Amino acid sequence: MSGEIYSKAYIARCHRTLKEWGAPLDGWLVLNTYDCLEEADELFTCELCGCTQVRFVHEMEHRQYFERISVGCICAGIMEDDILAAKERDRLMKNRAKRRKNFLKRLWDKTLDGAYVLRYRGELLKISESHVHPGHFTVSLGNDCTSQHKGKPITNFLSAVHAAFNLIDPAEEAWHA
Ligand SMILES: [Zn+2]
Repeated sequence: MSGEIYSKAYIARCHRTLKEWGAPLDGWLVLNTYDCLEEADELFTCELCGCTQVRFVHEMEHRQYFERISVGCICAGIMEDDILAAKERDRLMKNRAKRRKNFLKRLWDKTLDGAYVLRYRGELLKISESHVHPGHFTVSLGNDCTSQHKGKPITNFLSAVHAAFNLIDPAEEAWHA
């Protein structure tokens, strides 16, 4: 639920705002999407229509415009002139958010060397704390590993679990294909 109302008047208002900004009315491409309730509890305000109830944010860019604009589903659909594509992205994000929620409830087993492991989708995830830098964690899945989450070192178990989920269930980027 983006909370946005999709109507002709709504589209006209979005176009009017884009015109005021001197921005292109269509031809925008989605650069990135994210769930703003993933680790925070504040909804996002759509930069185009001002709707304050956006959960899934679509970051849009245009070759002929100097900055990115972050919007909700329907505004994204208007900017790229493809409401269905935007709704499909929203749907994928919603499903992944549900999977993450369930993943966070899983219990990890502690190993003899003090690491934590979880078998998920037939693969083994591991969270281990650095001996050199106590309080810093590394997450690994096979040969993939990371000690960062959202561009920052992982310094608590919950961030490590989020990073583990991102390793095993990366964000859907099919629309870039
Ligand atoms: Zn909007």
